[in-house]
Amino acid sequence: MKLTKDLEFLKELSELNGIGGYEKEVRKYMEKHFLEVVDKEDIMVDGLGSIAARLVGDENGPKIMVAGHMDEIGMIVTKITDEGFLKFQTVGGWWSQVMLAQEFNVTTREGKVYRGVIGSKPPHLLSPEELKNPAKIDDMFLDLGVKDKEEVEKLGVRVGDMITPAISFTPLANPNYLLGKAWDNRIGCAIAIEVLKRLKKEKHPNIVYGVGTVQEEVGLRGAKTSGQMINPDICFAVDVGIAKDTPGTDMSVKMGEGPAILVYDGALIGHVGLREVVLEVAKEHNIPFQLDYLKRGGTDAGAVSLVHQGVPAMSFCIATRYIHSHTSILHKDDYENAVKLLVEVIKRLDRETVNKITFE
Ligand SMILES: [Zn+2]
Repeated sequence: MKLTKDLEFLKELSELNGIGGYEKEVRKYMEKHFLEVVDKEDIMVDGLGSIAARLVGDENGPKIMVAGHMDEIGMIVTKITDEGFLKFQTVGGWWSQVMLAQEFNVTTREGKVYRGVIGSKPPHLLSPEELKNPAKIDDMFLDLGVKDKEEVEKLGVRVGDMITPAISFTPLANPNYLLGKAWDNRIGCAIAIEVLKRLKKEKHPNIVYGVGTVQEEVGLRGAKTSGQMINPDICFAVDVGIAKDTPGTDMSVKMGEGPAILVYDGALIGHVGLREVVLEVAKEHNIPFQLDYLKRGGTDAGAVSLVHQGVPAMSFCIATRYIHSHTSILHKDDYENAVKLLVEVIKRLDRETVNKITFE
């Protein structure tokens, strides 16, 4: 299938490899796109590797941060066994049950990529006890298809190398349903880039920072440092949400029905004044949205809300199926509506409106 330019962009982002601390490839990609919008001197990188592009609409206007985290969940090689299997440490939240028998890539320090699979015992060999319980991550190993440790070393694979899920981007039967790895959170990176590109062609009464943060999956670390660096007046974290539209869920949040605005998550109580403005703009422009909450887990908005004297912030999410697994599905319309809504909201955020949001 020949992909449109939009889909090609999403495919590229999804297929980049980058876990917490190893986001270089994603950062380079975001930088390339940011440079289509701003000059080199308007791009900043903090000490942990988060990247921010500054687009000035009004030099004296408030600072608006739109942040997507660049890291995906994955693993780090911790040991090579004598037989040539790789033991690993997970980076980000994995549930053991979704890991067995899945394909992964190992990226070496030289940038070589090798395919492997997490080995699983056939049912024939499982004890009655093992059959009842999910496998333990500590017992798992990655099989690169080599003879022994020596062969692994010859490949240049070392302790400390990154392991990432290996699946390719695929539009499904209904081509708006996009299957891919790392939607958490390359879709947020895509939104941060696209919002900046659209605003470049519009008037906006503020300074907008498109941001790719690092190490979100291990505790919102890059949001802390990049938030500190930018010191924004308003922050939107763009991230995946959880679609609740599959068997066994309550059907409360559905893919394709608009971006999900979180009223509550484990790291943030969505700022009420900011939410009012966003919902007002959505209604005015007939952009669909959904309200959602997250009992556990948070987004970068939580960390940024606590920098300096505090920042009104919101988690702005794309309802996605099967997050924190090897693969996931999201709906293209939600991506497009998220961009549309953020662009219209940002056009509204002049100093007066931001003061009202903050102080009233
Ligand atoms: Zn995320």
